[in-house]
Amino acid sequence: MSKGLTRSEVAELIKGMTGKILITTHKNPDGDAIGSSLGWYHFLKKLGKEVKIFYRDRIPYFFDFLPGVNEVESGPEIKGEFDWVIITDVSDPKRTGFENIPAKKSLVIDHHITAEPFTDYYIVEPDISSTCELSYGIMKIAEPELIDTPIATSLYTGIVTDTGSFNYSNTSPRTLKIASELLERGVEPYRVYSSLFERNRINKFKLLELVLKTLDFALNGKVAHITLYRKFLEETGAYPEESEGFISYPRSINGVEVAVFFKEVEGKGKWKVSLRSKGKVNVAKIAKKLGGGGHRMAAGYETEGDLKEIKSKLFKEIELALEESYYKSIL
Ligand code: 5GP
Ligand code: MN
Repeated sequence: MSKGLTRSEVAELIKGMTGKILITTHKNPDGDAIGSSLGWYHFLKKLGKEVKIFYRDRIPYFFDFLPGVNEVESGPEIKGEFDWVIITDVSDPKRTGFENIPAKKSLVIDHHITAEPFTDYYIVEPDISSTCELSYGIMKIAEPELIDTPIATSLYTGIVTDTGSFNYSNTSPRTLKIASELLERGVEPYRVYSSLFERNRINKFKLLELVLKTLDFALNGKVAHITLYRKFLEETGAYPEESEGFISYPRSINGVEVAVFFKEVEGKGKWKVSLRSKGKVNVAKIAKKLGGGGHRMAAGYETEGDLKEIKSKLFKEIELALEESYYKSIL
């Protein structure tokens, strides 16, 4: 049985953890995944615990400024035995990318609305901007004086990336208050911003050029979609993670309600689909129906098969959701 905990209960649970603790997050880790897991890694070490941090996939280069990134190990399999595992920013065991996590007890810290408990303990707050924001709240209850500049920088980074630099609708007054508190703990916002967003390689722009050429529309311009074929990476020498943010182009088009990014994953016929909404359509619901999950405005899923069929199946779901939102608006 999985047990949901309050912030104070999580704070107590973490302080009381003994033995070997493993920290992990989801595959293809993003800023929130890396920031929250590294934040907890530093925090637990400061509590005097024995901690290891291990991911399925390597960390994109633009996160290399974060304190402790070099201590993160990665690979397809976790070796060793652990007393605890703390999994951050993960709503579904498949998302960790591991078939087996060798730990006696498990805790999830997450903010995904589609989350279904799969660990011994969990805290999931779907209304919060990011796992980093939630983690800060818990750390403040546990041992506020331990939150130093490295921890604050890790958490701030995840908040920045998950809120689109404080622009998305998940940005609340509390998010900005926490950002302010993190700055008081030594975060340098321009350093974070420039490290993340001002070190682009030219390969990224070559990739963007090819991907933007695939721009197409469906459902009378309500859906805009772009596609990244595997061969584009070979042609441009770009890394897969350098396509981060491309989806904001189709989303930014006037009249578009849902933006879609189809990415061909290594292995034949495998696709990663990213969805973004402008508010009318709950894309988390659609992603969940198709085997994934996420948030109201940003969600995704993985699938296999012919891209044409994948598209028509998805567009049918979006059409239904748009009709539903239309009837809701006139009733
Ligand atoms: P992105 O499109 O940037 O990869 O992901 C946007 C959001 O959708 C993520 O924060 C995550 O919540 C969710 N998401 C993306 N892909 C998947 C997936 O394959 N499974 C689940 N459960 N959620 C996903
Ligand atoms: Mn997140």
